[in-house]
Amino acid sequence: MFCRLCLLVQDAYGMFGEVQLQSPGSADDVQQYCSRWEGKFCCLAGMKILQRTTRGRTLGLFSLIDSLWPPVVPVKVPGQSQDSEMMTTNLPPPSFCYILTVQPGEIRVEVDEEEQISNLYQPPAVHGLKEILQTKHSVPLNQREIWLFVTDSTLQNVAHVTPKVVAVSVTASCVLSTEITEALSVASRRVFFKDALWGHGRIICVERTVLLLQKPLLCSAAGADLSELTGPVRLDELDSTTQTNSICALRGTVVGVNESTAFSWPTCNRCGNGKLEPCPQDRELLYCNRCSEVVSSPVLKMQLEVFLSCPSRSQSTVKVKLLQRTISSLLTSSANEDGSYEVQSVLGKEVGLLNCYVHSATSHPNCVALEEIVLLEAAAGR
Ligand SMILES: [Zn+2]
Repeated sequence: MFCRLCLLVQDAYGMFGEVQLQSPGSADDVQQYCSRWEGKFCCLAGMKILQRTTRGRTLGLFSLIDSLWPPVVPVKVPGQSQDSEMMTTNLPPPSFCYILTVQPGEIRVEVDEEEQISNLYQPPAVHGLKEILQTKHSVPLNQREIWLFVTDSTLQNVAHVTPKVVAVSVTASCVLSTEITEALSVASRRVFFKDALWGHGRIICVERTVLLLQKPLLCSAAGADLSELTGPVRLDELDSTTQTNSICALRGTVVGVNESTAFSWPTCNRCGNGKLEPCPQDRELLYCNRCSEVVSSPVLKMQLEVFLSCPSRSQSTVKVKLLQRTISSLLTSSANEDGSYEVQSVLGKEVGLLNCYVHSATSHPNCVALEEIVLLEAAAGR
């Protein structure tokens, strides 16, 4: 609702300002503005100063400004003649920035679209995740909203590199285009995070971060390894360093079953409907409302949480909620002759590698609660 298009502008004195414009109509509009305006000279008129903001108050904005400092060309010095220019290598980074807005009805942003890219402009640099992991930067933690887990060839294609996956916290203030949300919900996609922050071992997307499905139009990617992933995604195995809200691979032996949460229910063998009812004509049979037919051979689905003994984290109680396919393969090998099975019969069985999300990992008490997941990569069949 409060989505705005903002321009970061820099003048000949090296001074930065953020110009807040009207809300963009769509993600396509943003793309258009980027391709037409980014890096070009502009003339602003009818501006009103909304705020003089400082580093402490707008960390996201200053993280972006710092990445553009020092200017790549000499800047003019205030109070001195127009010809006097100063080399910028030892110039301290700005400590404040003006947030500008346009007076209603007086919008005057004139961009010379024919103009060459300004020599003051510094295109975003593309980095692989391994390079990002080595960044020495820290920002305070924001209220988080969505978690993504990402990987790339710089983490996957090299042996003994940990972590294999990096968490991305997308805060409530980061605006996601429909294109991005749709792309992320259906399959694994290559995503570029522009003007994101790095801190607490994760990428943090805030109000000025832009998520893109393509490499930014103007960017330098020298040295960045953008090669495609080869083979299935590998996760780090659960160990003593595994944190809450992370993902990991897990292998172990079943040493217990959480019987209080275990239950099974019949589903329709045709449509998978899990809400079957007794058949009105014959209460012994099950009826599927969706198919409007009697279900002659229902498929039994099950919820099962097991306790595992894991050699990689031997001191901890490890509890994992399994996916149906793992439950089925565990139970198939331990079914009685009539097809029924005792939950206890899975004890001593080996499971793994399973890909899991870590709900909690604590040292007092020493326990890890996980849930088996499907990686989007695997779902996309790549
Ligand atoms: Zn059905």
